[in-house]
Amino acid sequence: MLITHDTECALGILVELLNTAPEVAGQEQLSDVAAVDAFVVRCDIGEVDAVGPDDVVAVQRLRGQLREIFTAPSTEVAAELVNSLVADVNATPRLTNHDGHGWHMHYFAPHSTLADHLAAELGMALGLILMAGERERLRRCEAPDCARVFVDLSRNRSRRYCDSRTCGNRMHVAAYRARQRSAADAEDAGVPVGA
Ligand SMILES: [Zn+2]
Ligand SMILES: [Zn+2]
Repeated sequence: MLITHDTECALGILVELLNTAPEVAGQEQLSDVAAVDAFVVRCDIGEVDAVGPDDVVAVQRLRGQLREIFTAPSTEVAAELVNSLVADVNATPRLTNHDGHGWHMHYFAPHSTLADHLAAELGMALGLILMAGERERLRRCEAPDCARVFVDLSRNRSRRYCDSRTCGNRMHVAAYRARQRSAADAEDAGVPVGA
């Protein structure tokens, strides 16, 4: 898959954003200006003016729109949603080589609000995934008690859990214990293990 470093960064921010939702994290992670500010810093989002209360509401709303695209039932539906999202915020492709990064494209219009900035950048990143025919890489964690999403950028598209250090390990431990339990049950029942 032809996916540039910039797109990969944008997809990372997209996943971070989607996973801040109350239905994923248990409670709203972007509940106020301080939380949104911390998100901007954590994701290293540049060219953002001071965040205000309006931005909190707008970013939460955008998050819902992005989730709809992420989980769309078909590429047709996702494509239509991407088109209207980036049109609404007047996305403006612009070449830049700021801060010693190589030449790359920014899509947000200069002086966009935070939500519009993110709508343009994350909407275009989703658009590039659709163009590459890679929508199946947009996944939800397979751990039954986890609603986090992730983008599987592994070569063989084999990733199943949001974060191999937490959900992945937890699921492997659970599977191991289940195997031990059934082996022990089999012994109790007088059935030779492995039979
Ligand atoms: Zn840049
Ligand atoms: Zn998970």
